[in-house]
Amino acid sequence: MTSERTAAVIGAGFGGLALAIRLQAAGIQTSLFEKRDKPGGRAYVYEDQGFIFDAGPTVITDPPCLEEVFASAGRRMSDYVELLPVSPFYRLLFDDGYAFDYDNDQDLLDRQIAMKSPDDIEGYRRFLDYSRAVYAKGYKELGAVPFLSFKDMIRVAPDLAKLQAWRSVYSMVSKFIKDEQLRQVFSFHSLLVGGNPFSTSSIYTLIHALERQGGVWFPRGGTGALIAAMVRLFQDIGGNLRLSTPVDRIETAGDRITAVIAAGERHPVDLVASNGDIVHTYRDLLSNHPHGASKAKSLMNKRFSMSLFVIYFGLRRNHPIAHHTVLFGPRYRPLITEIFGSDRLAEDFSLYLHAPSVTDPSLAPPGMGSYYVLAPVPHLGHAPLDWSVEGPRYRDLILDHLEQRILPGLRDDLVTVRHFTPDDFKSELNAFVGSAFSLEPILTQSAWFRPHNRDDRIHNLYIVGAGTHPGAGVPGVVGSAKATAGLMIADARR
Ligand SMILES: Cc1cc2nc3c(=O)[nH]c(=O)nc-3n(C[C@H](O)[C@H](O)[C@H](O)COP(=O)(O)OP(=O)(O)OC[C@H]3O[C@@H](n4cnc5c(N)ncnc54)[C@H](O)[C@@H]3O)c2cc1C
Repeated sequence: MTSERTAAVIGAGFGGLALAIRLQAAGIQTSLFEKRDKPGGRAYVYEDQGFIFDAGPTVITDPPCLEEVFASAGRRMSDYVELLPVSPFYRLLFDDGYAFDYDNDQDLLDRQIAMKSPDDIEGYRRFLDYSRAVYAKGYKELGAVPFLSFKDMIRVAPDLAKLQAWRSVYSMVSKFIKDEQLRQVFSFHSLLVGGNPFSTSSIYTLIHALERQGGVWFPRGGTGALIAAMVRLFQDIGGNLRLSTPVDRIETAGDRITAVIAAGERHPVDLVASNGDIVHTYRDLLSNHPHGASKAKSLMNKRFSMSLFVIYFGLRRNHPIAHHTVLFGPRYRPLITEIFGSDRLAEDFSLYLHAPSVTDPSLAPPGMGSYYVLAPVPHLGHAPLDWSVEGPRYRDLILDHLEQRILPGLRDDLVTVRHFTPDDFKSELNAFVGSAFSLEPILTQSAWFRPHNRDDRIHNLYIVGAGTHPGAGVPGVVGSAKATAGLMIADARR
């Protein structure tokens, strides 16, 4: 019987929330402890002078994975939140003025590829076929299945070999597409989940098929409205959300967890899942158990994704630009290499600009526009910069760049501005080295090689979110919640 079992989920990010809903829906009385004053984690929301800023995820893909979370509790997502289609998916602007509208309209894609590089039309078709094959195997079949033993890895090895998973995203795209700018168009996606296109496994080309298959969406009211919907669902079915309640410690007796200590209070519990940063979980929360220190030590030697510098700003004008714009800089590979390993900030940048008011004007006061722009930057382990100095300097460089390139009059129109640095990832989200996406998604840190959804030694400790299988990104962490919930529910019924 699960009815007397209790669970604690540490952290109310997308992964923690999706897991807490699934557990509560399965009859396990679940408490969700969140350190910050609002839920969402990387999907936090800032509100300022009538502007609403989603802090993190803005490209919502694979709505069925979210619908499944609502369905697990017998509810329909559409009764809680509305998803609006976004078209084009992204506008990609190059330094030399070349622009590509990335969408799932095949004719539009064909026309643009034909104008740029007619020889690549056929190659693009083959790339799409490859990406679909990876999506079917890597996402649909294995994306929400835990890899607990090495045997699980051996089982999928032939498929990985067939899909040439040892190759990088960029190398695989280049096999099919010859034009350098088109190679960038079809390879930048792994950056959205913290992966370097030049070293991340070609498995991540599945993002292309995922977007082509399921579209790109934006919740009415912003990503925060989707988080609010998940919170409402969790509470509607009897879940207990505790905001501003950091878990300080996980209490153990032998190799079993007995309680979590949150904001000084002891909460006895049967099962615990951490949605907090993976190093923080083992090093800080399990500091009283020898396994905590040894696991943290091995994790700290792994490769972590880059960090991000994000500027949230409100303008008096709602510029008629695309909802999602990627502004490539003059350098691609050299810049990315620096972002993933340099000890300093590059003077040029590639940026992602989010302009949600073009899809949903309610995110800004009437006639105005809410924006954020992000620049990938090295994490603090590579570049231990003084962000109290670099932050304002980098902010001004980026805003000047946007004013010249895409948002004329930005400085005069500026109503409000704030920024978030690698230091903030570290202090606000407990993120090791301020990484924005946890462990880098390279092949040797994926599937069984990633921290497992259930700990190998402390069997009532589970992991959910970007630090476990399958990895970062909203569909990834929601998939991790499905994998972890399956284990927890089965264990609770034993
Ligand atoms: C700027 C940005 C843009 C992004 N854009 C996209 C996008 O467009 N599409 C997409 O799919 N993905 C995107 N991502 C990635 C995606 O947002 C993340 O991978 C995902 O949201 C992480 O979810 P998570 O479940 O791992 O939890 P997190 O969001 O990391 O949340 C973890 C939570 O745990 C809490 N916590 C930590 N320690 C404790 C503790 N001791 N006690 C209690 N609580 C604790 C934290 O406060 C936090 O709320 C983006 C990420 C960033 C940073």
